[in-house]
Amino acid sequence: MQRLQNFKPLFLSLLAAVALSACEGVSETSSASDASQVVTPTEGSTSSGGQCASGDLCLALKIVAYSDGTSPVIDSRTAEDIVSRINGVWSQCGIGFRLEDFQAVEPKNVGLAEIPQNMSELPQIRGTLQSSNQLLVVMTDGWGSAGNINDSGADAWTTLPGYPPYGAVIDEPVARNANIIAHELGHYLDLLHIQNRSNLLSPVVGASSRGLSSGQCSTARATAQGVFAPMLRS
Ligand SMILES: [Zn+2]
Repeated sequence: MQRLQNFKPLFLSLLAAVALSACEGVSETSSASDASQVVTPTEGSTSSGGQCASGDLCLALKIVAYSDGTSPVIDSRTAEDIVSRINGVWSQCGIGFRLEDFQAVEPKNVGLAEIPQNMSELPQIRGTLQSSNQLLVVMTDGWGSAGNINDSGADAWTTLPGYPPYGAVIDEPVARNANIIAHELGHYLDLLHIQNRSNLLSPVVGASSRGLSSGQCSTARATAQGVFAPMLRS
């Protein structure tokens, strides 16, 4: 179910880290970040709280942040800020996300490894934390020795429609990167990678990777209204 296909190395000379992105194309896709778009909440700002704009298709979101008991990977305020930024990207498709549930979870308390080590743990993470009527995004602690899943260079893994349990699993180094999470939500809504750096579904996501075509919007909206209809809110 989770065979890797089509490894495509992308060498980005200006970046400190060489980004390697793998896309499975069947059940699960992964993404790498150039880490140039780390989002930090603005001090003292009044976040709109991760709400959908009126008129947009509105999908309920559950964000789970791994925690050691005192400091989660992100806090609820940061989660709201990230969702608002994600909505700024997805508004071009008339799609929004509502942060309906935020949980800081100690993984050991729910039978999960504190530091995920292996791809095989992804379905377990999703299956343990999933909700029947909310999209799931999990921010884990850094994976493995190289800080990414299976030393693949990928920072985030999301299952495509048709391959439950569903969920985007985001590695700690990119947990504040709104473009990366918006990209993963694109996979969630059945979008595959496009070799265009200005597109949100570029395999390597940068600060300018925010575009979506009308065809991508149509696919995403149809998926929201189909497979994920239970997640829709009015
Ligand atoms: Zn991707």
